[in-house]
Amino acid sequence: MNFVTHLECSLTGKIYPAGQVHGLSEAGRPLLVRYDLDAMKEKLSKSALAQSTAPGFWRYADFLPVAEPENRVSLGEVMTPIIPLEQSAHHLGAKPGNVLVKDEGRLPTGSFKARGLCLAVSMAKEFGIEHLAIPTNGNAGAAMAAYAGRAGMKSTVLCPSDTPDINIREIQSQGGDTYMVNGLINDCGKIVGQGKEAVGWFDISTLKEPYRIEGKKTMGLELAEQLGWELPDVIFYPTGGGTGLIGMWKAFAELKEMGWIDGPMPKMVAVQATGCAPIVKAWEDGEEHAPLWEDAHTVAAGIRVPIAVGDFLIIRAVRESGGFAIAVPDDEIMAMRDAVAADEGLLLCPEGAATAVAYKHALAAGQIKDTDRAVLWNCATGLKYPLPEVTGRLDKNQEIDYSQF
Ligand SMILES: *Cc1c(COP(=O)(O)O)cnc(C)c1O
Repeated sequence: MNFVTHLECSLTGKIYPAGQVHGLSEAGRPLLVRYDLDAMKEKLSKSALAQSTAPGFWRYADFLPVAEPENRVSLGEVMTPIIPLEQSAHHLGAKPGNVLVKDEGRLPTGSFKARGLCLAVSMAKEFGIEHLAIPTNGNAGAAMAAYAGRAGMKSTVLCPSDTPDINIREIQSQGGDTYMVNGLINDCGKIVGQGKEAVGWFDISTLKEPYRIEGKKTMGLELAEQLGWELPDVIFYPTGGGTGLIGMWKAFAELKEMGWIDGPMPKMVAVQATGCAPIVKAWEDGEEHAPLWEDAHTVAAGIRVPIAVGDFLIIRAVRESGGFAIAVPDDEIMAMRDAVAADEGLLLCPEGAATAVAYKHALAAGQIKDTDRAVLWNCATGLKYPLPEVTGRLDKNQEIDYSQF
């Protein structure tokens, strides 16, 4: 059972039937899943949800497209914690307690890619698909390989050859047939797309099938429930393909339609790195589409996405929410990661640290206020990334100089 009525082209509004395998729409744009929100409003309640014992985001199964519970592929998803910044708030110019970190590094495979890929793989299982392929900067491939393996499907993963080594090894270890490509994620995506005919694999690229958005939508549902159905004033989201930003915005729209939330929506802020900021440039130029960003580079591998098929959906969500797009430099990202880890005991990934830098800049520029309740999205565990070197040494054969401690 579910509440899905149909799918809809996000650009043209053309309707597609549910219950069939879909990729992009005929217009070459993402398909969005639509639900009978009136029926959901009638049949579902916050109090019933509060009683749910389903693990992690499966508590929102009624908001999701998987029809048969046995098709839910699970690796032990959890509700991720919201951690207020206390000690490190001064790095941001913030008031302690007003900046919250949603720590997604606790999900299976160590990143929020688990949400989208869990849903997409579960839907692939529902449709009897046997072979999945994906281009990745690391985390999506890892999540896809893990969930596909769990579901007994074959998976093929293509990543840029300069993807962090730990990610590449993680993908292969979790059963993904892994190939390094001498290009960027969009080059990998081209090969995956062209291989559909020749190999017969299903292309599970960001936004090129309809269900990763639905998985990422659970971030918005979960945030709303955790905050007692009172949304924050502003959300800083590190934006690559934008699935999460689009998904959260969709969640808020559906909850509003159902009457579960009211009042002003959060400002959605798309955060990118200065070395790869196509969405920020399009935003600043007043455009809806973002052309390919040449020579994309940043330490924040998860947001090194030079071109996004859902560019207009990201920009529309940012605009409708009264938010903005902002780019931050790599050196500040790494310094912020180290400062927050040292002061707070919270090891952000570089992409998460980018949101903290963006907060600081936005506050200084008067785009937000220090009284605003802000949520920073930490998308992955910091443990997947190279960390600063340790130089302290002790010689057990020498007298220890205890004055140094
Ligand atoms: C994929 C990824 C992002 C970007 O997420 P999108 O929703 O695709 O924009 C950010 N950070 C990390 C660590 C990621 O893996």
